[in-house]
Amino acid sequence: MSGHVTVVGGGIAGLTAAITCAEAGATVTLHEAHRTLGGRGRATEAPYVAHEGAHVFYADGPHWGWLAERGLTGKLGRPGPSALLRAGFRRDGVFRRSAPAGFLRMLLDGRRRAPVDQDFATWAGRRYGEAAATAAANAISVATYDADTGRLSAAFVWNLLHRVFAPRPPSVRWVIGGWQAVIDRMASHAESLGVRIETGSRVTTLPDTPTVVATELASARALLGDDSLRWQSGHCVMLDVALRRDRRDNFIVFDLDEGGFHESYSAQDPTVAPAGESLFQLDMPVKAGESPADAHRRLERFADVALPGWRDRVTWRRTATARGRTGALDLPGQTWQDRPEIERGDGVFLAGDMVAAPGMRGEIAINSALAAARGALTAAGRLPTR
Ligand SMILES: Cc1cc2nc3c(=O)[nH]c(=O)nc-3n(C[C@H](O)[C@H](O)[C@H](O)COP(=O)(O)OP(=O)(O)OC[C@H]3O[C@@H](n4cnc5c(N)ncnc54)[C@H](O)[C@@H]3O)c2cc1C
Repeated sequence: MSGHVTVVGGGIAGLTAAITCAEAGATVTLHEAHRTLGGRGRATEAPYVAHEGAHVFYADGPHWGWLAERGLTGKLGRPGPSALLRAGFRRDGVFRRSAPAGFLRMLLDGRRRAPVDQDFATWAGRRYGEAAATAAANAISVATYDADTGRLSAAFVWNLLHRVFAPRPPSVRWVIGGWQAVIDRMASHAESLGVRIETGSRVTTLPDTPTVVATELASARALLGDDSLRWQSGHCVMLDVALRRDRRDNFIVFDLDEGGFHESYSAQDPTVAPAGESLFQLDMPVKAGESPADAHRRLERFADVALPGWRDRVTWRRTATARGRTGALDLPGQTWQDRPEIERGDGVFLAGDMVAAPGMRGEIAINSALAAARGALTAAGRLPTR
């Protein structure tokens, strides 16, 4: 069918691709296997709005501008000054407000370039000392969800470190209602542009129209019958927990000892928990060969530091494991250009957070979706061939 594009997958990548194609005048059908849209952007229903995956955006990438231009970001949440005073690090088993000097020196060294072909631990260890390199690798596990971030490409880790911790106004954005609220707005916008959205519709064979496959890489591998569609990603256990409010609860804790991360959801967005309660998510990367149960035990010990006395105040909790679902990780010698290509031939284009597009995590999904949509529009005769 001329001018028709099929999108497989109703996460943020699929919705981005569908909107882009519809805006260019294509007729679009989007298929989502689940009953609900959102993929890893889904959240549980109120009164405890906990995320399956993503909950923050970074505003220093083009994907944020794309969402904002269309009014899809909605109202932003902001933590109050008292929350900001309760941000810090787990260092040597206790909560501290300050980071080690070597780690801070690294952050001030933003003009330095790190090599692609060396691992971060070796490269940073030589320049800033082994302890600072380990602290930095564990701090940035907030974005890698990996128990051994030091083994990754120095350039990859360096870039993440400077985006997340750089000494400039923070670019992190919390949207009220979380990613689920953005997903809901994207779905309404897509429908207003005429996109046909079919939920509960798992695609098992590729259609003969130009198609954007915006699924996790494992599903794309099965759908395209292409075993080469693989990339490495993180592995962590998670604890979502609602507690009766206590002034000692910390807002954010980066775990320099073991790579965990703790964050309040409700300090910046009170709509996600009942009055008088606070909602938090903590995660801990799983070590090679470690059982998820052991990783959960380490996570709970980290929670003892981030949320003193939390075990007696629990009103709701949920645990989960995320494996291969936290975005692409690049090993020494690899950059984003080496990840599975977006254009697959025969009018098929890949989008998602493990394909060849720049950015981190959800940002890769949006950036790749924009490129995949351009490819599909060209194949559908809606854009001139380059
Ligand atoms: C714990 C965790 C925390 C994260 N935190 C952040 C964060 O704070 N910020 C950030 O930017 N990113 C974060 N991420 C990453 C972010 O969630 C993902 O990058 C993003 O949601 C990926 O979107 P997507 O649309 O590419 O894939 P998905 O959200 O996985 O969507 C793919 C969809 O395709 C559907 N599907 C699969 N196969 C088929 C089929 N055959 N037919 C039809 N439909 C199909 C699936 O059901 C799914 O809905 C996090 C991830 C995790 C796991």
